[in-house]
Amino acid sequence: MPFDLVTIPCLSDNYAFLLRDQQSGAVALIDVPEAAPISAKLKELGWTLSEIWLTHHHPDHIQGVPDLTAEHPARILGAKADAHRLPALDHALTDGETFQFAGHDVQVMDVSGHTVGHIALYVADAKCVFTADSLMALGCGRLFEGTPAQMWASMQKLMKLPQDTTVCSGHEYTQSNAKFALTVDPENPALISRSREIDQARKDGVPTVPSTLSTELQTNPFLRPADPGIRAQLGMENATDTDVFAEIRARKDRF
Ligand SMILES: [Zn+2]
Repeated sequence: MPFDLVTIPCLSDNYAFLLRDQQSGAVALIDVPEAAPISAKLKELGWTLSEIWLTHHHPDHIQGVPDLTAEHPARILGAKADAHRLPALDHALTDGETFQFAGHDVQVMDVSGHTVGHIALYVADAKCVFTADSLMALGCGRLFEGTPAQMWASMQKLMKLPQDTTVCSGHEYTQSNAKFALTVDPENPALISRSREIDQARKDGVPTVPSTLSTELQTNPFLRPADPGIRAQLGMENATDTDVFAEIRARKDRF
């Protein structure tokens, strides 16, 4: 793979990511929960930051920008739809746009739901997508601004990516997500075994992020509203996928 991907734990349960093009040495940072651990990692690796890609406006994804860029100047990219509540952007991104990172295509996907204007960034050559608080490991972001129908549409966009895509999401919520997932999909063998792996990883202090899209498709209830077992569990055999998704999201909110 012509890329390095580094996961950086930040704050209590956030993740930032560094994506480095090995040939050019260009480095993109995805989200800036806080400056210190990111700055330390850049120094440790001897990498020079080129770009910052922001997924959405929540403070735990952008608040480290001023401190970090004071030490590591970089171009800042984020959604045009969110520009009024993001740090000043050097490049405002629109849904469906493709921009270049060290000669590689980066596809901008609007994945509104958690917030309106939340974007995911898909780098086909690196086989990875940065989803922050849209699609998460065994979960999806809480709907602060969007509707269930919006988030389900966003999930469907992400589900169409190649199954071996690495899903880089924004938080270490996977263990509690697994406990919830088992309440709506208790008979799913892939989920049961993933849940055990997650418990072990957390016991060992190992991050459960990133994951892969194929794993999420098999185990994440927010990608599985069409699944007969989940529908039976919810008593929603004849509902639409959107309605089943909305019910799963509502139950998670109460969990
Ligand atoms: Zn958020």
